[in-house]
Amino acid sequence: MTARLLDGRAVAKQVYAEVEQAVSERVARGGSRPRLATVLVGDDPASAQYVELKQRNAQKVGIESEDHRLLASSTTEELLALVERLNRDERVSAILIQQPAPKQIDMSRIAMEVDPVKDVDGFHPINAGKVALGLPGGVEPCTPAGIVYLLEKFSISIAGANAVIVGRSNLVGKPTALLMLKRNATVTVCHTKTQDLAGHTRAADILVAAAGRANLITRDMVKPGAAVVDVSTNWVDGRQAGDLGHGVEEVAGWLTPNPGGVGPMTRAMLIKNTLEAEVRRRP
Ligand code: NAP
Repeated sequence: MTARLLDGRAVAKQVYAEVEQAVSERVARGGSRPRLATVLVGDDPASAQYVELKQRNAQKVGIESEDHRLLASSTTEELLALVERLNRDERVSAILIQQPAPKQIDMSRIAMEVDPVKDVDGFHPINAGKVALGLPGGVEPCTPAGIVYLLEKFSISIAGANAVIVGRSNLVGKPTALLMLKRNATVTVCHTKTQDLAGHTRAADILVAAAGRANLITRDMVKPGAAVVDVSTNWVDGRQAGDLGHGVEEVAGWLTPNPGGVGPMTRAMLIKNTLEAEVRRRP
């Protein structure tokens, strides 16, 4: 078997087209144009590239954007001051703080201070809590939202499926588990203390690999026909790779390319969430 591709680039394109149309209809009706503020702390080249892509994606669909840069040596207080300014700025619909931030920045404090209405990443405890409790109005974080959107676009049944998530971070693993549970999957979350990881992954109808460990998931760990989502961004010999080892594509039924799977979906969900943030602010 050769796995069919869960083509994130193609689905992201459709999302951009839908957002572009919604923005132009909104503006034509006299509504406000959404505006995304991105914040990058430090000069990590990969992070800078992601921010530039996000800026470009926003502008392409008619969303205004502004880019804020802080020195790598910045303190939590300095970032907080910028966040407070962006919270108060009437023109800004959504605030994205590129992660990972330098180690001295206390991101849990920052997440608490971003106005929940402008929290396009869904990191504020109010948004995370609403998503966890299944309450309306919570912002679904971009990467998990992109994963479920992609699976649904390819009509992969989540309800009743055994979904196994490898990784339990607040950024990816945990919220992905919650979104799968909301869609009635039977969810298992694995981490470094999990015993018999392969025993769990082999039972997965949907396997989400988000460990950030190249070659962690080998072909014998995948159930034949499973849908496999490779979230991770590892760099191996200067090339981007996920967590999947050689040959997984011969066992899986569906597979996200990496690059070209979850990354484009994450950026597309950011743009969608930016529009939704503006709609919540000014219906
Ligand atoms: P993270 O905070 O480092 O979390 C990694 C998780 O994987 C942890 O829960 C860890 O378990 C678990 N893990 C690590 N090694 C494992 C192993 N050998 N067996 C089982 N579990 C293991 O990373 P993250 O922020 O969740 O991101 C995960 C990956 O996705 C990274 O490569 C990141 O770059 C990538 N990413 C991609 C996108 C995208 O748009 N494509 C977006 C976000 C993140 P413990 O909790 O026990 O330590």
